[in-house]
Amino acid sequence: MHEQSFDVAVIGGGAAGMAAAVEVCRHNLSCAIVERVSYLGGILLQCIHNGFGLQEFKQELTGPEFAEEQIRQVKETDTALFLDTTVDSMEDTETGKEVYCYSRERGIVKLNVRAVILAMGCRERNRGNIGTPGTRPAGVFTAGLAQRLVNVEGFIPGRNVVIVGSGDIGLIMARRMTWVGARVHAVVEIQPYPSGLTRNIVQCLNDFEIPLYLSHVVSRIEGRDRVERVAITPLENGIPNEEKTFHVPCDTLLLSVGLVPENELSENAGVQLNPQTNGAVVDSTMMTSVPGVFSCGNVLHVHDLADYVAEEARRTGAYVAAWLDNERPSLQIPIRAGANVRYVSPGRFNPERPDKLYLRTLIVKNNARLVIKLDNQVVKEKKVSHLQPSEMVSLKLQPKDVESWKVSEDSVLEVSVQ
Ligand SMILES: Cc1cc2nc3c(=O)[nH]c(=O)nc-3n(C[C@H](O)[C@H](O)[C@H](O)COP(=O)(O)OP(=O)(O)OC[C@H]3O[C@@H](n4cnc5c(N)ncnc54)[C@H](O)[C@@H]3O)c2cc1C
Repeated sequence: MHEQSFDVAVIGGGAAGMAAAVEVCRHNLSCAIVERVSYLGGILLQCIHNGFGLQEFKQELTGPEFAEEQIRQVKETDTALFLDTTVDSMEDTETGKEVYCYSRERGIVKLNVRAVILAMGCRERNRGNIGTPGTRPAGVFTAGLAQRLVNVEGFIPGRNVVIVGSGDIGLIMARRMTWVGARVHAVVEIQPYPSGLTRNIVQCLNDFEIPLYLSHVVSRIEGRDRVERVAITPLENGIPNEEKTFHVPCDTLLLSVGLVPENELSENAGVQLNPQTNGAVVDSTMMTSVPGVFSCGNVLHVHDLADYVAEEARRTGAYVAAWLDNERPSLQIPIRAGANVRYVSPGRFNPERPDKLYLRTLIVKNNARLVIKLDNQVVKEKKVSHLQPSEMVSLKLQPKDVESWKVSEDSVLEVSVQ
């Protein structure tokens, strides 16, 4: 068995893992990234469209360009790279953690570390998760897999396409499939509003006159060997109206029906998960319920921008360094999701320093107000011109916001949308 020791092991070499590792090294700690495929970059490498990097690198980049810039930063540090290496499990020891991995080249690898950063990203929900009835022909793909086939492997998965779900991956694939010569007949969304970013609705559907059916479902997949057509049914007051079902001939169905944080490893290590995010419950330092194990990026909660992932991961790297230096927050106020808010991450706030919270709403609303209450008293408000569940909202808390707060050990913060 190959055995090595580091201060920190980062599991996953995507946008989150790389940003966290660079920050850890900036604090003169030794760090290893363990990545199960043979290259760094994660999901970024298949996102060849632009729309990345405006906040992180102050220029509009494609996913691979964003990754390239991060890889350059990693290579400037002494981060040890364990590529083609999958983390299988973690165990606590008296002095830290043992991280067990396997790799084709080295066999079993054991890393002895003082702290672990979980950065394993997320995976796509599939047909089984949404239970679409019908036959089981070829031609049904998750949108991210189709993206990989087109952008990385050079295959076109089909010519006549229907897309289920108007999440960003589905929208981007509607445009991508059109560009490679396929015809996208419909994007079908169960909600009465789109699930993806507004800019993607405009640039990926409207610009190509691809119809978006809101409050509709694909109610049946039909075809013997290959998909031949799908049935689409409108929802009226949330109930399918079968009489208005219509059929769309197609050979390919792409599913863009949500992402789930990749947390089996975390669960096996005893990390408590948040049912709202499917990611870990973390405190104000991004530490999970297992001391010394931290989490960031899409494995913590699904982010819409890589820039937010990198920012959160960098903060996590700094928190890990502080924790290893025995710094502990003296007070952490629990944060509750109030009216119209699905979740707030992280779930605790340290009133001794500025912080950034990320949240998702449950409603679509124009001219909304984010209201923060401390023990039922409004302590801060922020106006937001438009909110929708698919767009993550960030909220900065500055020391000046907090100075006048009367915080006690029993205090609770609540964030709501009005
Ligand atoms: C189709 C699509 C379009 C997008 N468009 C944009 C956009 O226009 N602009 C933008 O800013 N953002 C966009 N994003 C979002 C952004 O790309 C992601 O949020 C971000 O890259 C996620 O980074 P991550 O490191 O959390 O996860 P990932 O990139 O998924 O990285 C996780 C890594 O962990 C590895 N891993 C998992 N488990 C293990 C294990 N057990 N052992 C070892 N390694 C493991 C995986 O192989 C992977 O490399 C898009 C995302 C998608 C999918």
